[in-house]
Amino acid sequence: MLLVVVEEQAGSLSGGSLEAVSCARELAEGSAEALHAVAFAENTDHAADLAAPLSKYGVAALHLLTGEAMAEYCPELWGRAIAELIEHTDATGLVGPASDRGNELLAHAAARTGQPFASNCVAVEPGEVWTLTRLRGGGILLEDAELSGQVRIVSLAQGAVEPVEAATTHEVAVREFTPTLGESLPHSSLAERTSRGSGITLATAPVVVSGGRGVGSAEGFAALEELAELVGGAVGCSRVATNNGWRPHSDQVGLTGTKIAADLYIACGISGATQHWVGCMGAKTILAINTDPEAPLVSRADYAVIGDVHDVLPAVVERVRARREAAAS
Ligand SMILES: Cc1cc2nc3c(=O)[nH]c(=O)nc-3n(C[C@H](O)[C@H](O)[C@H](O)COP(=O)(O)OP(=O)(O)OC[C@H]3O[C@@H](n4cnc5c(N)ncnc54)[C@H](O)[C@@H]3O)c2cc1C
Repeated sequence: MLLVVVEEQAGSLSGGSLEAVSCARELAEGSAEALHAVAFAENTDHAADLAAPLSKYGVAALHLLTGEAMAEYCPELWGRAIAELIEHTDATGLVGPASDRGNELLAHAAARTGQPFASNCVAVEPGEVWTLTRLRGGGILLEDAELSGQVRIVSLAQGAVEPVEAATTHEVAVREFTPTLGESLPHSSLAERTSRGSGITLATAPVVVSGGRGVGSAEGFAALEELAELVGGAVGCSRVATNNGWRPHSDQVGLTGTKIAADLYIACGISGATQHWVGCMGAKTILAINTDPEAPLVSRADYAVIGDVHDVLPAVVERVRARREAAAS
């Protein structure tokens, strides 16, 4: 039997979950095995809501991992719970979405069970040994690999497959499983929940004005915020800016931040390290403002202004504002 972990997003299954379910179904069909889903909840109150959409995707059963510790995301305890479930079933594989949580959770499950884990796969073929292709280097490389083990664990990169409903609809049997867990297991817990203000998000903003070490301070971002507001964009930053406490991590662009797809990316005082580049390479046009004409981002940008960001940005803001005012009058 093959297990697939599904995630809830705003009361329904995430798109990445349905992609993972579709991929897992192909793997299960390829080895003539049943497909079972795994989800987490404090109790079974909403089990039917979770099971209903899965019935269209060829899932035979839903293992609902319940208990107080299953109410809020906790990678250590949830990973341990999956390991316990695997012990109690005859699972031969585990698939999940390669979201931040999905990868973290599956890594914990893999470590707890001692089974191999291949993350960020874009294709997985069934067989005694699974053959797969996966993203490496933050998405700039593709790796062909083989995965063997008693329980093979993979996460599926977002957008790698289309979610496809099964030819026939099945009733999904809900099976509650309450893991015992260990009292002594160190684990993280939710301290505070903050949400982004409404409005434009970094991932979907048409323009992103981003700052790095060259901006020099938290206060230095005022000019970037001003420009972003003028052009209806969002403010981003490099990891140096988050490490220095100038910006929150939610503003970070890159491998360990957000991957943007803006029409225009304005990179101010950012060198363009690979880990940053993989986050901004999806932008249609890149403008780099940098004192160093040899900076990697300057070489890769469509346009570059060689100069001090503290001189260049106020001049750009002034020009944009003047144009806006002229257009309005
Ligand atoms: C596992 C891992 C994950 C990482 N993930 C990320 C990630 O998600 N995102 C990310 O950004 N980084 C990430 N990093 C860090 C990355 O390697 C770089 O260290 C970081 O991107 C550099 O930030 P920066 O460009 O602001 O700073 P620097 O590399 O120091 O570059 C500063 C640039 O500003 C220019 N400059 C200086 N002063 C001025 C000025 N007055 N006016 C104009 N230009 C000026 C300089 O010429 C230089 O090009 C990661 C690293 C690792 C190891």
